[in-house]
Amino acid sequence: MKIAVAAPTGEVGRMNFGVLQERNKKPKGINFYSLTDGEKHKVKELTEKVTEEVGKNLYFPTGAAVSHKFVPVTAETGNVPVEKSSGFRAAPETENDLPSAASAAERKRVAVIGGGPGGYVSAIRAAQLGAEVTLIEKNALGGVCLNVGCIPTKVLLHTAEAYTLAKEGAAIGLKTGNVSVDWDGLMARKRAVVDTLVGGVGTLMASNGITVVRGTASFLSPGELSVALNEGGTATLSADSVIISTGSEPVVPPIPGFELDGVITSTEALSLEKLPESVVLVGGGVIGMEFASLFSSFGVKVTVVEMLPGILPMLDGEIVSILRGVLERKGVVFHTSSKVTGVEKKGTGLSVSVETPRGATKLEAEKVLVSVGRRPVTRGLGLEKIGLSMDRSRIKTDKKMETSVKGVYAVGDCASPIMLAHVASREGEVAAENIMGHKTEMDYKTVPNAVYTAPEIASVGLTEKEASEKGFRVKIGRFPLMANGKSLIMNETDGLVKYVVDEKYDEILGVHIIGPRATDLIVEGALALRLEATVDELVTTVHAHPTVGEALLEGALAVRGRSISMPKKA
Ligand code: FAD
Repeated sequence: MKIAVAAPTGEVGRMNFGVLQERNKKPKGINFYSLTDGEKHKVKELTEKVTEEVGKNLYFPTGAAVSHKFVPVTAETGNVPVEKSSGFRAAPETENDLPSAASAAERKRVAVIGGGPGGYVSAIRAAQLGAEVTLIEKNALGGVCLNVGCIPTKVLLHTAEAYTLAKEGAAIGLKTGNVSVDWDGLMARKRAVVDTLVGGVGTLMASNGITVVRGTASFLSPGELSVALNEGGTATLSADSVIISTGSEPVVPPIPGFELDGVITSTEALSLEKLPESVVLVGGGVIGMEFASLFSSFGVKVTVVEMLPGILPMLDGEIVSILRGVLERKGVVFHTSSKVTGVEKKGTGLSVSVETPRGATKLEAEKVLVSVGRRPVTRGLGLEKIGLSMDRSRIKTDKKMETSVKGVYAVGDCASPIMLAHVASREGEVAAENIMGHKTEMDYKTVPNAVYTAPEIASVGLTEKEASEKGFRVKIGRFPLMANGKSLIMNETDGLVKYVVDEKYDEILGVHIIGPRATDLIVEGALALRLEATVDELVTTVHAHPTVGEALLEGALAVRGRSISMPKKA
């Protein structure tokens, strides 16, 4: 009998081969062959040949999509202990799902410092795998994300979106009369949503048997923590492993006047007593742009000052310029390549001195919102006592999220190269799994960016510029949302889907979306990158109609120059 084992060329394939090899399921005497980089064009041919030769015995490890990117491996053998795939995929159980069978006495004790998305997810994962977990949190569970970050900003942005819809109701056949913002009502709703989710984390801790200690932790030694309890007194806690997930705090640069009342960070901006009439936003990053979108939707006069030549520099320039156009139409003024040099009181408001490429100017505003970045919270943890390697205030880790000190792990904003909640949570899972004896590594390739402006922006993978800088020859597919039925139905046609594709192997390198529900749609892009999908695999996936998601199909077709819903070029 002949058998072939096929796997994709990238990490998914290597990982699955790793799983097979570890379980000794790789048949003895197997003749492996793979193609070198220069021969990858032969992959399709070879896969077809092998498929024809071995027919239904072709085996695809989990995670592998059926694609011509596979490097096939063949064997001539009579007793192959590899389970056969039913269809094109097999699903070997993943050992990372198995709890350890340790008795209560030998249960691993894991201490987690910080109850944000990094901390509470790692605590749950460690508990799922059989650890005895204690989580120490000095403030509310849920961290920045639930209390003063992701969740409250999105509550306000949701109401801003509904307000715009209602105000522009006539465009979609609604007579809405005078719509106005009930700021107190909105603040109350924000608190209710936050409380519900924070309460939910508490329930999750209890249901997973995790002990929550309210206090501030610091290291006495790698396996011993001192906790200054919120209720008074100190407790000492021993653990076999510790996960540090202490998050980040806003950076406020030492600029004269930044200490004045009225100069605020995102934290205070989420609890204002009333909507200001005008705001100067210092910093054109994600948080700054979400507030620019929020305030301008509510009719606040917004001016953005950004030191770099453009806003949202990590995103695709073409996508960002669409957002900038929309915000400018809403009255937002941008000063890029410009620097705030000082703030002074002026009457009941503030006067902001700015150096622009056209010379110095003064901007007046009721509030100045500083959102120039965040820094890891690592002071006061006693890290110097245990000799942890740091990169300035950030904790250094390897791909398993383990620090330079054995048994001490760090996840989330205090250690991660990307300060996002979903990254913190994934890193938390990786740390917990490694502590519990599994082998998992953090992979940043499929991390989506999400910007909750109106319209939303979301992206995953390489931008066109990054791909070119990395030496790829790229093909681009673009599909404007003006030609998408659902966007027209929603009256939200400012938008674009853009694919960055490797010309040589047809692999999707990046997906960039601006438009309604972009942050939900990016999941398809992340999965495409995870499965190392090609354009072929996207265009042969049927997309529901009418959806904004069809624009993802059309964008992929556009890579081939055969978009269905765009007029044929003459
Ligand atoms: P945190 O959430 O900061 O949690 C750390 C916790 O540790 C805190 O609760 C803190 O009290 C506790 N702690 C610190 N030191 C100690 C100690 N010594 N002892 C005990 N407890 C301690 N990300 C997204 O993915 N999507 C978004 O839409 C998004 N929006 C954002 C909007 C704003 C305005 C901000 C500021 C951030 C936003 N983020 C968003 C980023 C996101 O909030 C963070 O990436 C995420 O919270 C990081 O999680 P974490 O667990 O690392 O840290």
